[in-house]
Amino acid sequence: MSKQEFSIPKLVTDLKSEADAYLLLEQLRWGGTPDACPKCGTVGRCYFLNPANGSTRKTRTGSVSERRVWKCGGCRKQFSVLTDTIFHGTKISIRTWLMVILQVCSSKNSVSAWEISRQYGLTPESAWHMVHRIREAMKREPVAGLLRGAIQADETWIGGNPANRHRNDPRELPRKAGTTDKQPVFALVHYETREARSTVVNDVTANTLGDKIREWADIENTYLQTDKHTGYIKIGAEAPSHEVVDHSMGQYKLLGGAGTNLVEGFFSELKRSLDGTHRHVSIEHLDRYLAQFDFMFTTCKLTDSQRMRKLIGTVAGRRLTYMPLVGNA
Ligand SMILES: [Zn+2]
Repeated sequence: MSKQEFSIPKLVTDLKSEADAYLLLEQLRWGGTPDACPKCGTVGRCYFLNPANGSTRKTRTGSVSERRVWKCGGCRKQFSVLTDTIFHGTKISIRTWLMVILQVCSSKNSVSAWEISRQYGLTPESAWHMVHRIREAMKREPVAGLLRGAIQADETWIGGNPANRHRNDPRELPRKAGTTDKQPVFALVHYETREARSTVVNDVTANTLGDKIREWADIENTYLQTDKHTGYIKIGAEAPSHEVVDHSMGQYKLLGGAGTNLVEGFFSELKRSLDGTHRHVSIEHLDRYLAQFDFMFTTCKLTDSQRMRKLIGTVAGRRLTYMPLVGNA
């Protein structure tokens, strides 16, 4: 199954055993065989440890494992396609993982952990942790290059209206006038490539917005497009051009064809999903939801299978253990 399109029914039929699921994951991650040892980095000296009895082998505790194990000729250590990835240490079958990944990569409005838990017979905790690990793999590479060209920037506020809170909600009420518990979120979208980058920010002042734009875009080669928010004036002056859309004048598209419609589309999709699928997103996990939205928006022209291949290409080095994830929630 190297280049064909995936679907959940097809995965159900093709992955008859856990060994089949390992084979597919090895194919997707490594193109079949590992180039380098994940423990010491030695290249070209990894070999497959043949299980004694066909597709299964006995573990130290005597139970039968279908895990496909490789060994490094350099450091002599054993590893599998799961070592040092989002799958590291998982007790959930790789067959289930692959199906859930495809499902997450196929759903535009995102899938809730609750749905995954019901459909795959997992505990809500396992499903929640699984979905967050998948989101971890969707995070942008830390060394992702700077954006150049026509870039739209915008900010929005995420969260409910404090006035609609349930009277038993533990957060203090009534709130002080002029304060809010909504969270500002900032996003950039590249006009041509549709690459989206978003993040939680502390405020929407000129300093904060300017710093974020400088962090993500090569400002000297950026044709910035924003709304009238005064926070963009200073940074706009550093760019070769800054086009401003005045919504109060009913102007949503500039004569040149651009505007802020793309980044506004990004936010409206994000809000629709947060309202519809994830009713209670806590602020501390919002960045990981945003990573998922950036990934889905940026890859919107890919097929679900292409998106799944892309995701599996970035599972390495992204272990996410349970404790830091849960924090003090
Ligand atoms: Zn090694």
